Amino acid sequence: MKDRIYDILVIGGGPAGYTAALYGVRSGFSVAVLEKLSPGGQMAATGEIENYPGFPDPVDGFELGERMQAGAERFGAETVYADVQGFDFTAEPKKVLTSEGEFLGRAIILCMGASARQLGLPRETELTGRGVAYCAHCDGQFYKDKCAVVNGGGNSAAGDALYLARICREVHLVHRRDTLRAAPLYLRRLKEAGVRIHWNTAIAAIEGEKKVSGVRLRNVLTGATEELPCDALFISIGRKPETELVAGKVALDGAGYIVAGEDTKTSVPGVFAAGDIRTKALRQIITAAADGACAAHAAELWLADRAGA
Ligand code: NAP
Repeated sequence: MKDRIYDILVIGGGPAGYTAALYGVRSGFSVAVLEKLSPGGQMAATGEIENYPGFPDPVDGFELGERMQAGAERFGAETVYADVQGFDFTAEPKKVLTSEGEFLGRAIILCMGASARQLGLPRETELTGRGVAYCAHCDGQFYKDKCAVVNGGGNSAAGDALYLARICREVHLVHRRDTLRAAPLYLRRLKEAGVRIHWNTAIAAIEGEKKVSGVRLRNVLTGATEELPCDALFISIGRKPETELVAGKVALDGAGYIVAGEDTKTSVPGVFAAGDIRTKALRQIITAAADGACAAHAAELWLADRAGA
């Protein structure tokens, strides 16, 4: 397998990656997915997924990842478990350097995703999925009619708080400064929705044994602390795109995401970006999967152009 030339090399085996692989092989191309750990990407760490169509009962994220992998492999896509260490997009075919050697691809689809930034508090990891969450659209329904705290002051945190205000009994927004980073129109909407905003406040600790029972708030100006009982803490302090390896090779925006529209084309011909790793408004499993299909289609057109050249 080492040094084999593939028509399409997909980097990352989440929903974008395996959808790109599925569409690529079904169009008659040789496709390999380079994945470092296991299929599914971020969704593999999500216990129950309720917002992916076709599953009237919640589906386990790890299982959905495996199903996506099996669906692509059924048509001949290969999975190579390898840690990607670098790229050479100037070579023809393009080179991907990995822990398992060098792989060559005529077209490359980057699907390495993004990960939620963590607060880094003790017990944060332990209580993830037990009250600590990073995605309101994914996990909000688990806290219907309960009390939720959202941490952050950006568009995502404000959007999450508004979303949760439609589901939860009580929503608090905790922000470390006295103004939102979010677009100004959010402030009025948050107030109208009854979201209680705690300005100049940090989350000092997460309380609860087996599940979240509250948070300890700390006023960053006075140092005063107070307990706030709650059922969920949604941490919405930004995401980190997995783009270190492509920095300087494809254009990134100020937040580090690969600049690419719905056609998934990056600044480098023959290199495409799909899923959470690219600039986009809504980062969800279904939008990642949609990107995968668009990227495979764009790669197909690129390869056809090259063949005809
Ligand atoms: P963001 O804009 O970077 O905001 C992150 C927020 O988290 C900021 O308020 C920041 O506080 C706070 N924060 C960061 N680190 C923290 C820490 N350690 N402890 C406590 N608070 C912390 O991230 P985002 O809201 O996820 O948005 C990411 C990008 O997507 C932005 O460009 C955003 O505009 C865009 N977006 C757009 C939409 C939309 O257009 N509808 C929706 C969602 C996201 P400070 O303000 O003090 O730095």
